[in-house]
Amino acid sequence: MKRLLILGAGTAGTMAANKLRRRLHPDEWRLSVVDQSETHFYQPGYLFIPFGRYRPDEVSRPSRRLLRDDVDLIHGEIALVEPDHNRVLLTDGRALAYDYLVIATGTTPRPDQTPGMADGRLWRSSVFDFYTYDGAVALASALGDFRGGRMVVHVVDMPIKCPVAPLEFTFLADAYFRECGIRDDVELVYVTPLPGAFTKPIASHRLGSMLEERKIVLETDFMVESVDPDTKTLVSYDEREIPFDLLVTVPLNMGADYVAKSGLGNELNYVAVDKHTMLSKQFPNIFAIGDANDLPASKAGSVAHFSVEVFADNFVRYVGGKPMLRRFDGHANCFVESGAGKGLLIDFNYDTEPLPGRYPLPWLGPCRLLAESPVNHWGKLAFRWIYWHVLLPGLPVPLPSHLTMAGKHPEE
Ligand SMILES: Cc1cc2nc3c(=O)[nH]c(=O)nc-3n(C[C@H](O)[C@H](O)[C@H](O)COP(=O)(O)OP(=O)(O)OC[C@H]3O[C@@H](n4cnc5c(N)ncnc54)[C@H](O)[C@@H]3O)c2cc1C
Repeated sequence: MKRLLILGAGTAGTMAANKLRRRLHPDEWRLSVVDQSETHFYQPGYLFIPFGRYRPDEVSRPSRRLLRDDVDLIHGEIALVEPDHNRVLLTDGRALAYDYLVIATGTTPRPDQTPGMADGRLWRSSVFDFYTYDGAVALASALGDFRGGRMVVHVVDMPIKCPVAPLEFTFLADAYFRECGIRDDVELVYVTPLPGAFTKPIASHRLGSMLEERKIVLETDFMVESVDPDTKTLVSYDEREIPFDLLVTVPLNMGADYVAKSGLGNELNYVAVDKHTMLSKQFPNIFAIGDANDLPASKAGSVAHFSVEVFADNFVRYVGGKPMLRRFDGHANCFVESGAGKGLLIDFNYDTEPLPGRYPLPWLGPCRLLAESPVNHWGKLAFRWIYWHVLLPGLPVPLPSHLTMAGKHPEE
């Protein structure tokens, strides 16, 4: 009996387990998944919790219910991978042997990595994140009490998962304060380490204009050095200072610590992989999927989905002694909520930046690329249902996993 061990029952690990269980014969393969949490969180839903659009209980489900019955779920925290012994150690002392290992433990916000940020005087009283369940819930209560002042939305450094989420949060905050009738009493500032609002030039220009239209101040190239708890100020390495009444930050995102301890990670604990197959560059029986790897793509659920489709086909060939034929192209596809019942859609890959146009059908859409529309907003909301009922069970989605240029208009 061969053993496939998947580390992490998040988006990528759950999809991969459910897809591969259908394709690997149960008499030949034992398939196990390890996770420290017994609850699976729909992280895109964290965006809506601070504004009261989603209740906290709408974004979580028991992990066991999301995996097929014939997949073992092991509850425990991973302490170390010993690739030379094909073994994983858990913090409670258990050892798990494998023939093939798939690392899918994602990336986590680390406020402890910025001096002053996690200071007890500030953290979750005037400094918040919305990248964790607890953070989003705490922020909902803080926003309910906020009556005006300077709110700073901030990104420590790239890469972060869902790089558009802080912009979406800012657009939603603008709309929320308008609805509450206090927008004139709030100064909204968006602080980023990037030279513009976003990573890719055309999208950065479009999203930057949207900040301007909403009178949101954009502060670029801001490499934060520390947060001063006494003065409630962000301080950068080039000695710029940005004071705040309420700071909503996206802390440094890092892969799991055990990845570094196991000698498998880069400086941010991401596993080095081939960017087309997700096979480890160090070990021929280890893959890393989802946010846990160092792909030069967005860290996003959509990337996890498209890449797992490629990975699952390749894995079955690989363990059968055949060459891996499919090549992942970095395809990412993200709805960008822009407030007041509208949103944008961006669709891109390693080589093609987000472009205007229509998706998925050329000319018809119904989604508009890089332009605001109510359909995109409804697409974003519908995505939660698709996530639970289609993506996580590993069911086929009638969309190509690679990027297509049909419907895209580079000249617009
Ligand atoms: C606010 C927000 C909004 C987002 N919006 C979108 C969006 O609109 N569209 C989109 O495509 N993506 C979005 N994302 C990103 C998306 O949620 C992630 O990219 C996706 O969940 C990555 O999947 P993953 O399986 O790699 O990691 P995860 O889903 O994070 O799963 C990792 C799993 O590993 C487990 N784990 C970690 N370390 C250990 C350990 N040491 N021992 C045991 N278990 C461990 C964790 O408990 C977790 O279950 C958003 C994310 C956030 C935070």
